[in-house]
Amino acid sequence: MSRLVDGFGRVHTDLRISVTDRCNLRCTYCMPAEVVFRPREELLSFEEIGRVTKVAAAEGIRTIRLTGGEPLLRRDLALLVRMLVAVPGIAEVSLTTNGLLLVEQAAALADAGLARLNVSLDAVGEPAFERITRRTGLDRVLAGLAAARRAGFAALRVNAVSIRGLTEGEIVVLAEFCRREDLHLRFIEFMPLDADQAWRETSVLSGAEVRSILERELGRLEPLPVTDRGQPAVDWRWVDGGGLVGFIDAVTSPFCDRCDRLRLTADGQFRNCLFSTTEWDARSLLRGGGDDAEIAALLRACVGAKRAAHGIGSPAFERPTRAMYQIGG
Ligand code: SAM
Ligand code: SF4
Repeated sequence: MSRLVDGFGRVHTDLRISVTDRCNLRCTYCMPAEVVFRPREELLSFEEIGRVTKVAAAEGIRTIRLTGGEPLLRRDLALLVRMLVAVPGIAEVSLTTNGLLLVEQAAALADAGLARLNVSLDAVGEPAFERITRRTGLDRVLAGLAAARRAGFAALRVNAVSIRGLTEGEIVVLAEFCRREDLHLRFIEFMPLDADQAWRETSVLSGAEVRSILERELGRLEPLPVTDRGQPAVDWRWVDGGGLVGFIDAVTSPFCDRCDRLRLTADGQFRNCLFSTTEWDARSLLRGGGDDAEIAALLRACVGAKRAAHGIGSPAFERPTRAMYQIGG
């Protein structure tokens, strides 16, 4: 059986596929306020995504996560889910969404075989939601979470980005909300992938700081051992019961040494890291008559060139030219 192993022995089994760069929010840590999206014809079709997935699965990819931009803006996304679930070798297809369109789509996604949903939500108060996302819609996200639950998504995760000077005031209320609603909350450190390039090391509100705020206000937490090597989050358990809260400390405690992820951008470029400064052009092969062996070779070349670590904070660190919404988070 083929495996996608890089020069540091890391085996890659997860492919993040971005289906669009469009979005119905404008989160300050991701997108610019004014944006020009890629022309539609540059985005891979469902058939093209399906073909890349078949090749990737034959090479050793086992799990797919659909993302964007906002993936639910891509028309008939459930059809793509159904197509990818059926690819031999793919064990799980999951999705990351801002939740705004879940009321309309949760049931169809569940029916298509989507295994898991992550919903990004940084605040449960409307003023903070608007400050962070530059849009309204909190009520729709909350209704979307409820719709996802009704559709049968049991292990719902909520992802929240932590940014100094922006999100401190939301942490406790969000954690209380997630405890009450039995949602698995994960705090993600702010990474230098915002289109506005406002990221500074000082703007990273670390997982440790978030944890100390939570412990001061809500009670003691204790860490659980990391059982899944590919999992970037470290989960902590409320000692008084009441579930888990996770921390993805991508900046202060990088998990590069156990990274098992590759990426395909909406415009058909393979990337071996969020912070990759090189891309491998699958779209040209797909549209230029390339065969499956050539696509597989391209994917292997992408894996082979993966660096040991992202290097944020080191003098040699270079910000990628594309922002998070253009890569696929
Ligand atoms: N639109 C969908 C959403 O928001 O869930 C999917 C795409 S979004 C780019 C994927 C994830 O990336 C979200 O959880 C978002 O919070 C996170 N994200 C975006 N920009 C980030 C940044 N600069 N640092 C850390 N996480 C970021
Ligand atoms: Fe859109 Fe997701 Fe980026 Fe927010 S984080 S602007 S919802 S792509």
